[in-house]
Order: sequence, then C-alpha cells, then structure tokens
Amino acid sequence: MTLEQARAALRSARRVAVLTGAGVSAESGIPTFRDAQTGHWSRFRPEDLASPEAYRRDPETVWQWYAGRYRDVSRAQPNEAHHLLARLERGKGEGFFLATQNVDGLHARAGSERLVELHGNLSTARCEACGTVAPLPDPEAFTPPPSCPVCGSRMRPNIVWFGEFLPELALEAAARAFEEAEVALIVGTSGQVYPAAGLALETRRAGGMVIEVNPDETELTPYMNCSVRDVASRGLAALMGEG
Ligand code: NAD
Ligand code: ZN
Repeated sequence: MTLEQARAALRSARRVAVLTGAGVSAESGIPTFRDAQTGHWSRFRPEDLASPEAYRRDPETVWQWYAGRYRDVSRAQPNEAHHLLARLERGKGEGFFLATQNVDGLHARAGSERLVELHGNLSTARCEACGTVAPLPDPEAFTPPPSCPVCGSRMRPNIVWFGEFLPELALEAAARAFEEAEVALIVGTSGQVYPAAGLALETRRAGGMVIEVNPDETELTPYMNCSVRDVASRGLAALMGEG
C-alpha cells in the first residue's frame, strides 16, 4: 500500500489505535534500549536492572538507575511526534486510543488523554506493603528509596518489570481498541516485547489496516500494510498530511 493510500485510510478512519515504543521519544533525547547499550548504563543489561530479582538482590542500584531515568525524562520535552498524536486524538475524539510501552510520561505531557501506559510510569512509586501509588518528589530533590505516605514502608518503582504481568484492565482496554480499530499505527517499537507487540496483530486479524512508522525494519514489519521508514516526527507528519 502506498503512503498516499495509508494517509487516506487514516484520514477517513473513525477508530484509530496507536501503539508507541521507545522510538517515539528518541527525538526528545531519551535513549531507546538499543541506544542505552552504548551509554552510561551500558555495562548493565536492562533485564539485569528491570526485574524483581534484581530489585531483591540490590534495591539501591535499581533505585539509583530509576531515579536517574526519572531525572532525565523530567528534563526532556515532548517532541513533534507526541504533539502530532495528541492532535490526532483531538481530531478523532472517542474513536481514538493510545497505548504506550514508554514509561517517560511524555505523551501525557503533550496532552494525550485517551492513553494507557502499559509498562507504568517513572514519576510514581508503589508501596511494597500496601500497594499505594504516589508521585515521587521533585526529581532534583529526590533521594531514593521513597517511603509510603500511608504506611511508611519502602516503595518500589511503579514500573512493569521483566517477568511481571501488565495491568489487566489497561491491557484489556488496549486489546479491545486494537481489535475494533480500522487503522492501527505502530510507532517506534521494535515489536520484541509481548504482549504489547501482539496488539498490532489484533487489528490485522480483525480486518483493519496496520501502518508502522520506524526508520528500521522490525519484527512486526511482515504484518504491516504499510511501513513508513522515517523517524516518528516526520513519519507521522507525512501520514497526517502535513509533511
Ligand atoms: P526498543 O528500544 O526495543 O526499540 C526502539 C525502536 O524504535 C526500534 O525499532 C528503533 O528502530 C525505533 N526508533 C529509533 N529511533 C526512532 C525514531 N526517531 N523514530 C521512530 N522510531 C525510532 O523499544 P520498545 O519497542 O519500546 O521496547 C522496549 C521496552 O523498553 C519497552 O518495554 C519500554 O517500556 C522500555 N523503554 C522505554 C523507554 C521510554 O519510556 N522512553 C526508553 C527505553 C526503553
Ligand atoms: Zn504503604
């Protein structure tokens, strides 16, 4: 399918579901997992920090990593891709749904509201004893670990770690939205992390159209009706008829 046809399909669709991954925030200067392998934390594999076992073994190192990421994303700004998706939502209204695998909070800061954060959020913590979720203090003043405002116990990062289940209601809502979508957009995700990656396949299976925006080929490319090979901001602008 040509870009022109993909653009027409997106324009006329009443139900649109979007899945985003780390690539949508790359232009905000937030490293994807692949980029992170060359950076400061390159001596750690994400699986070795973002897991319940890692946290049990060494909560201090895990909290330091998350406190650093929280500080980094607080200093970052949403980019044009986040803004274009917020604009697409305003155009589609109730027929729009956005599921993100990102934990950086940039979609919400750009104004997205019909949004689920499938993997949690860096700006909140969850009580290990009573489950209370509370916002972290200002990132520049924050020294981990935080303690629970209700019961005083230690809190953990409010992130879905490797080997943990996704929030059930959020995942169900996403699955429904992708199944009902006439058009699904898959932006900046390598498609390696399930069940999020499976959402694209729900749309395809139900007869909808699936469009990917990613500079590189991904695991999901074989299932796409159209692949826009560009960074998120330019790819979305091209699809939304503004590029
Ligand atoms: P990933 O790192 O596995 O893949 C990133 C994808 O983005 C790649 O396919 C890459 O080709 C593409 N990409 C790179 N630059 C891009 C750009 N400018 N525009 C569009 N696409 C671009 O990330 P993933 O698929 O999201 O899955 C990994 C997991 O990492 C997720 O569970 C997520 O929670 C976590 N993660 C989140 C963040 C964040 O919150 N910003 C950052 C790193 C990792
Ligand atoms: Zn508590």
